Amino acid sequence: MTAHMTSANMVPERQTIEPTPAPPDSAFGVYLHIPFCAHVCPYCDFNTYSGQDNLIPRYVDALAAEIERYGPFVADRRAATIFFGGGTPSLLPADSAKRLIAACRQAFALDADAEVTLEANPNGLDSTYLEALLAAGVNRLSIGAQTLHRRGLRTLGRLHEATDVAAALRAARSAGFANVSLDFIFGWPGQQTDDWRADLDRTLGGDLGATPDHLSLYSLIVEPGTPMADAVARGILTPVDDDGAADLYELAIDRLAAASWDHYEVANWARTPALASRHNAIYWRNGDYLGLGAGGHGHLAGRRWMNHPAPLAYCKAVESGRTAISNEESIDAATAMGETMMLGLRLLDTGVDDAAFRVRHGGSLDAVFGAQLDELASLGLLVRAAGRVRLSRRGLMLANDVAARFLP
Ligand code: SF4
Repeated sequence: MTAHMTSANMVPERQTIEPTPAPPDSAFGVYLHIPFCAHVCPYCDFNTYSGQDNLIPRYVDALAAEIERYGPFVADRRAATIFFGGGTPSLLPADSAKRLIAACRQAFALDADAEVTLEANPNGLDSTYLEALLAAGVNRLSIGAQTLHRRGLRTLGRLHEATDVAAALRAARSAGFANVSLDFIFGWPGQQTDDWRADLDRTLGGDLGATPDHLSLYSLIVEPGTPMADAVARGILTPVDDDGAADLYELAIDRLAAASWDHYEVANWARTPALASRHNAIYWRNGDYLGLGAGGHGHLAGRRWMNHPAPLAYCKAVESGRTAISNEESIDAATAMGETMMLGLRLLDTGVDDAAFRVRHGGSLDAVFGAQLDELASLGLLVRAAGRVRLSRRGLMLANDVAARFLP
C-alpha cells in the first residue's frame, strides 16, 4: 500500500479528487511562454532565443495585451493555474511577473489559491529577487538543475555549477517558497550509473542545504538539428543507449521509492501527493489550457492552436491587433480519445477512469479501446482494476510504446 491510499477502501486519494480525463467544463490552466535565454544549450530544441533580452519589456506588453484578449473566450470557466515556462522566465524582472499575474486575475476567474509556477535557472537566483517573485504572486518555483555533476553540466552546456543549485534552493527557502521543484536530466553522454546515483543521493540527502518538494527527471533525448545531435553524428559525443537510460530510470524509481517519495507521473515525483504539479496535471488529464506568448500552444473546447514562434513577429501581431496564431486545428473524436489515453496513462495511480472517459467521450473504454486494452493487459503492460486502467511497472518502462497503441 502506498502512502496516499486510504486504508478503508484502497482507492488512491487523488483518484477521488481528479479523475482522468478532465470533465469538459473543468478549470483551465494558463501557460505564459518566455522565449529568452542567456545562451542556448546544445541539446535544447525549445522555442527560445539568446541575445534578444532587449525585447523583454515590449514582449511583456504584448503578453499582457494577449491575456486581456482571451478573457471573453473563457468567461464561463475558472482558471486554476499559471505557469511561466521557457526559455528562462527568471530573466523576467519581478515587476513584470507581477504585472502578468495581475493581468491574468483581471482577465480570468483565477482561483484565489491558484498555483503559480515560474521556471528558473539557478544562476543568480538571489533572495531579493525570489522574495519579490513571491510577493508578486508566484508560489511555486521549478529550478533547472539538470545535474550536479561538473562534467555533466559542461556536456549539457549549462552555465551554472552545483553550488548555484544549492544556493538557489536555499535562497528559495529563505524567501519563503514552500513548493520548489528541481529538474534533472539523466542519460547525458558519458554519464555513469554512479554519477546519477550521486545526483539523487545528494539531492535527497540534504547535501544541497535544503530538500526540494518535487522532482522532474527527464531522459536526455538528442533532438535532430541541435548542436548536440551534430556532435553525436561526428562521433564527438556518445549518448547513453536505450537500455542504459532504462537502467538509470529504474535506479531513480527505486531510490525515490526508498525515500517514500510519490511517483505520480512517468517523469515526476512529489515529496507528498499534495505537492504534485497542478498545472501539468491539467495537461495529463487532457484538460484545457491557454498557451500565450511566442510559440505558445493552446487547447480549448476541442481546438488547438499555436502562436508565431518568433518573439518579434509575435509582438508585431499583437501590437497591430492581428491574431498571434499561426496554426489552428479542430481535434477530431478519435484523436481526442487517443490523447486522453496517451496523457492519462502517464498518471501512475490515477490512470484513466472509465466513468470519466464515458462522460468526456460518450463511450466506455471497452467500447472504444477494448482490443488494445486486452492485448496490452495480456502482455502485462496495463493493469485494469476499480473501473480504471493504468500502467504496470513493465508498462511504465515502455510508456511511449503503450501510448502509441491508442493514437489513430
Ligand atoms: S536554459 Fe532551458 S530553455 Fe534555455 S536553452 Fe537551456 S535548455 Fe533551452
